[in-house]
Amino acid sequence: MLPQKSYPWVQNGRHRNLPLKLPICNFDAKTGILCANCEARLRKGEITKADVDASRAAIGLAERVPELNRVTLRRAFDGGGNYVLEFERQDLPVLRSNKSMYSELEGALNGKVWIVGAGGNDRKFLEDVFFPAKVLTVNTVWLPDGEKKTKVIVPAKRSERRIGDFDKLRDAVKRARGIELLVETEREASAKLRP
Ligand SMILES: [Zn+2]
Repeated sequence: MLPQKSYPWVQNGRHRNLPLKLPICNFDAKTGILCANCEARLRKGEITKADVDASRAAIGLAERVPELNRVTLRRAFDGGGNYVLEFERQDLPVLRSNKSMYSELEGALNGKVWIVGAGGNDRKFLEDVFFPAKVLTVNTVWLPDGEKKTKVIVPAKRSERRIGDFDKLRDAVKRARGIELLVETEREASAKLRP
């Protein structure tokens, strides 16, 4: 049997091929050139440019952000250069365990990033979007012109990053779930109730 050092692709007994799973081939994400299959999927609308951009960003980071090698990016939704990234729901704890995950992804994508889990209802989705802020209430609001909005009340100060930046993510949230979002802090909501 050959000594282990003869196998440069084996490190600490584990295969070094990236197990990060993406909406496009890992090879395409690395090279930046889509294979015929992924190109056809993009043309048919099965994947989007946001999926391609987010895949390239994620694989570029995976070498030095090890948590990314344990997750599956399912879809990406772009709203004006800001992104909602949808991972498998069971991947959220490992993604959140790295305190610099958001800033790494935002640096790579050159925009704001919100991380959500796949599946689940709208409330679950919104809880992911606002994490680590808590979502207190989710209400459906009908505007006089018949437009439906989803109002989220959060306890935190508006100055908090997740909430303060939310305007930037509104379009990506709409693209991801069709949700027209209104955000209020608990203080703003209770001020409206006073005479
Ligand atoms: Zn491909």
